[in-house]
Amino acid sequence: MTTRKHTFPVSVGGLQLGGGAPVRIQAMTNTDTCDIDATVSQTKALADAGAEMVRITVNTEEAAQAVPEINRQLQDAGYDLPLIGDFHYNGHALLRHHPQCAATLAKYRINPGNVGRGATRDERFATICAIARDHDKAVRIGVNAGSLDQTRLQQALAENAAAATPVSSDAVLNDCMIQSALHATEAAIAIGLSENRIVLSCKSSRPKSLITLYRTLAKHTRQPLHLGLTEAGMGMKGMIWSAAAMSVLLEEGIGDTIRVSLTPQPGGDRCEEVYAAQELLQALDLRQFAPVVTACPGCGRTSSTTFQTLAADTEAYIRRRLPAWRAQFDGVEQLHVAVMGCIVNGPGESRAANIGISLPGNHETPVCPVYADGTKIASLQGTETAISTAFFELIDRYVADHYPAIKRD
Ligand code: SF4
Repeated sequence: MTTRKHTFPVSVGGLQLGGGAPVRIQAMTNTDTCDIDATVSQTKALADAGAEMVRITVNTEEAAQAVPEINRQLQDAGYDLPLIGDFHYNGHALLRHHPQCAATLAKYRINPGNVGRGATRDERFATICAIARDHDKAVRIGVNAGSLDQTRLQQALAENAAAATPVSSDAVLNDCMIQSALHATEAAIAIGLSENRIVLSCKSSRPKSLITLYRTLAKHTRQPLHLGLTEAGMGMKGMIWSAAAMSVLLEEGIGDTIRVSLTPQPGGDRCEEVYAAQELLQALDLRQFAPVVTACPGCGRTSSTTFQTLAADTEAYIRRRLPAWRAQFDGVEQLHVAVMGCIVNGPGESRAANIGISLPGNHETPVCPVYADGTKIASLQGTETAISTAFFELIDRYVADHYPAIKRD
């Protein structure tokens, strides 16, 4: 098991980040916050999917006014999760003008690169930290490569160009980001925020930069770190690039909260980012959210689509049944199911799973042995529908027989 870097515990609306807590999953809405119905609805969907904190944009007076009502509707519906306000440019003014918004949010995200310029930057940053201090709220000091203070960056690049042994411009950029995060942390502490109220992030859109940034940051701070590859992109690219960067860091014990910043397809499901984060943490054995389905990729030994259909249907069936199983059976998230394509690896992987089925490949006898904890318990045959129905019944029976019923008072 990976040992996590020791960070200060930070409470965000009662949810502990860092200090040995499990790595938490954050998501962000993409609704207009002024549209209260849409924002409440999407926040519920993200929470149902597994988000433990949800960040919402607070960019206008109207958005700040909407925050308390959004929270009230969520609380009334039983959604007691921390809401985080995402502030850029005018956060100091919005939080000052809307004390109800300031009191409602569990954490304020501040980007030191765009809070203001020069003396204005320091003053506005101080205003936000003072409001957080007075309301006993956490802040995330979130530095992004794309919105770094350009004056500081240009100055550092010029100094580097004039140096006897200049380093790469990427190294200068990374150093500026780290210095910005550490300097802002010192400033927040000087204003009166305790170390137990500050989370840091230093996000890049390039995996190798992200790894370098967080390795360095982790050496210089004990504040909890929020990980995420910013602007990860769409679909497969976004997931793979995010996982490539974050898995290295998480495996080194770096990172207390994560977000997978996927660009959804138009009209796509915002919850994909939560599922991706869960898969990442589960792949690294850091958290367990849902049963695992092992399926082989298929090859020339199983050229029919029966195996692919059964693998997809099994995933869908488990996802559908999981809420009811969770309510009834303790530890059912640990279930491991295998759906395999032929005799080469099928029986072996199926025996290694809690319950597994090995389909016949081309030219094999058309029977499907099913194994439970290494023992053959059935041989299924017939139509695709008959086989899947019988296999799902066996999965249900396995769950009922192997996971203790949750006792209710
Ligand atoms: S288990 Fe069989 S069908 Fe699946 S990838 Fe291996 S050889 Fe191919």
